[in-house]
Parts: sequence; C-alpha cells; structure tokens
Amino acid sequence: MRWQGGEQSENLEDRRRTAGPVMLGGGGLLVLVVVAMLFGVDPRKLNQLVNQAQVGQGNAAGQQGELSPQELEQQKFMGTILRFTEVVWGDQFRKVGKQYEPPKMVLFSQRVQTGCGVAPSAVGPFYCPADRTVYLDPTFFEELAQKLGGSKSEFSQAYVIAHEIGHHVQNLLGYSDLVDQQRQRLPEGEFNQWSVRLELQADYLAGVWAHYGQEKFNFIEAGDVESAITSANAIGDDRLQKSQVGFTSPEKYTHGTSKQRISWFTRGLQTGDLSRLDEIFKMPYERL
Ligand SMILES: [Zn+2]
Repeated sequence: MRWQGGEQSENLEDRRRTAGPVMLGGGGLLVLVVVAMLFGVDPRKLNQLVNQAQVGQGNAAGQQGELSPQELEQQKFMGTILRFTEVVWGDQFRKVGKQYEPPKMVLFSQRVQTGCGVAPSAVGPFYCPADRTVYLDPTFFEELAQKLGGSKSEFSQAYVIAHEIGHHVQNLLGYSDLVDQQRQRLPEGEFNQWSVRLELQADYLAGVWAHYGQEKFNFIEAGDVESAITSANAIGDDRLQKSQVGFTSPEKYTHGTSKQRISWFTRGLQTGDLSRLDEIFKMPYERL
C-alpha cells in the first residue's frame, strides 16, 4: 500500500503510554472473546466482558516510556489511513449535500476507557457510537495474522480501519439506529440477521472507501486486495466459530460468513455505488 508521505489526521489520539486506574489482570486474555467480538462488539457488553476478564487493580507491565520507532511508524500509518477516510467520506457526503463529521480514533494497549465502558484489547477494534470514536490496539494485527490466519499487510489493516469507520458512516446515516430499534423488539436469533446486515454493510462501505481512495490517492498496490480478502476470510463467523468451538451454527452469526464478507467488500470496491446501501437491508437474508 502506498501511504508514505500522505497527510495525517488530527483526530488520532495515541494512548498507548497512558495508564489508567483500572488494569486487567495478567495476559492470556480470552482468545474466545477476541474472536467472538471481532469488529462488531456490542458496546453494551463491554463492561460485562471486562468482568469476565478478571479486572484487578495494579500496574500493567510495559506501559512506561516513549513509544518505540515501530510504534511511532504505526501511529503515522494509522493517522494517514484515518486522513484518507476523512477525505474520501468528506467528498462523498458533499456530493449528496451533507457534511461529514469525522470520528476520532484512539490507539491503546491492554484496555481503554471509552464512552461505551471499559474495554480490554481482547474485544478487537471497535467503534463506540456514544463518543463517535474508533478504538484500536495495534497488536490486534499480530493476533489476526498469527491466530486467525489473516494478513497483517498494510492494506488489510486499512481495510479493518475502514470497516470501523464504516460503522461511523452508518451511525451518521441512521442505519445504526435502524438496527438498534430492532434489537429492542426482536428475539436474539432473529436480531442476529440485522446485525449481519449491518456488518456486511460496513464491509461494503470499506470497499466503497477503497474505491474512491484509489481514485484519489492511487494507494493500492499489487497483492493488496488479495491480502484484505485473506483477512476478511479469516474473520467470517463461520471460520471463527469453527476455530473456537469446532462447528458452526448460522443463527448465531452476527457478522456474516467469510464468503459474504469478501463478496460485499469486493462489490463496494468495484462499484463505489452508495445508492445500494438500502439494498443490503432489503434483500432476502438468504441472498446476502
Ligand atoms: Zn463491524
């Protein structure tokens, strides 16, 4: 991915060296939670997750000092990708006479205080609508590559960020509210279908972002799209459930299968067509 030398966002905050009052006990934080919550954590469950992860008082190791050169490079990369999303979504919103209000992004390590509660790294990257912020522990990409068979290429990281920004776009456009209303009236099994639609739409939005980003910044290099697909493939619900519990049960899906995630990301990337957003909520579930 070509990003070096690009402008950096002013909406990135790096909290990796900021220690808060609540620390999570020990390492070995529930891999199960990592995979279950990937990219789509229900913010209301955060506090519960932290309890499961045995919150204790005390000091986390490795929290002091300056950021390493590698961490600074990560910061620069994330800031540049965030800026790419601001420019692309700014343009797209303007086209339809709206104003894009960019979200914030916070880099953290181990756990973070958010507008949606305290979150351990184990939940994976997520967007909190209450404070309009994307939270991300960059070590997630190591997990994704090592434990889940995803790619940690820069473009596949950009895809993950773009997916979270997609949730912000959904928030601005009212799709998140639409799904929240269903959450309150439907039993869990039925509600999961709405959750899948929302997640696939976020993948589609990530693709749309890449489409216009490529037009404007020409940032995609050979192999990049394939690497994002490798990651999308690794984090489909069918794959995740298989690696967690050895079998899959479709009514428990909340993010969509690997094939669906790849398909919607790719469609967004190829077409850049924002007039199709409603379609993802209207088409029969079996055809998604
Ligand atoms: Zn998501």
